[in-house]
Amino acid sequence: MSGEKRAIRGIGMTSARTRDRLVQRLGETGITNPAVLERIRSVPRHLFVDEALASRAYEDSALPIGLGQTISQPWVVALMTQALVTGLDLPLKKVLEVGTGCGYQTAVLSPFVRQIFTIDRIGSLQQAARTRLNQLGFDNIRYRHGDGFKGWPGQAPFDGIIVAAAPGEVPPALLEQLSEGGRLIIPVGPAGDQALIRITRTPGGLQREQLSQVSFVPLVEGTG
Ligand code: SAH
Repeated sequence: MSGEKRAIRGIGMTSARTRDRLVQRLGETGITNPAVLERIRSVPRHLFVDEALASRAYEDSALPIGLGQTISQPWVVALMTQALVTGLDLPLKKVLEVGTGCGYQTAVLSPFVRQIFTIDRIGSLQQAARTRLNQLGFDNIRYRHGDGFKGWPGQAPFDGIIVAAAPGEVPPALLEQLSEGGRLIIPVGPAGDQALIRITRTPGGLQREQLSQVSFVPLVEGTG
């Protein structure tokens, strides 16, 4: 079924009211940036999951997208986006996203950034995300099938890097590819004990802040 038909059929279970409820909940749980909340309201998350799960798309939970991966929980996507964009001049010039997955975070980020560079190690997931994002009209995204541990050296430096899977330690290549003033938003740690952190490159060195406890799939080395 085309994305458009699904969007029309989706009215009801994905109605304005269910989206409002989600946005209200995020507003009560630390998401204070109005542009980010508005973005969560307007991105059709039900088009990023399997049709069988579409009725749950505006619940604040992660959902399976196949191959052992998940679409991130809306609150986490909002928190990461807020941590990246708040207080900076928008749009950011270049942002690297590691872990395209189904492309939902990519879609949320798109209007805050001139050009997004997104990498996934699983080619089939990324191809499906690319088709979906193209159909929805997103035209500021470049895709690479590759290992996010290495970043995207040919396009560095980046004003922002967002990582949607958790390594044990911050990959050094990602720190190297951060511009002056740039921010890296990344979950770090083993399953059950992960922290979302923000690292900012300042003239005085790297500044590290802990944002929240989180639960992500692991960042896996190599390509699948
Ligand atoms: N942001 C996504 C969430 C994706 S889940 C969304 O909104 O749907 C995490 C993704 O990270 C998976 O697609 C997985 O394949 C990818 N991933 C894991 N290790 C990786 C690596 N080393 N390089 C690139 N992508 C990786």
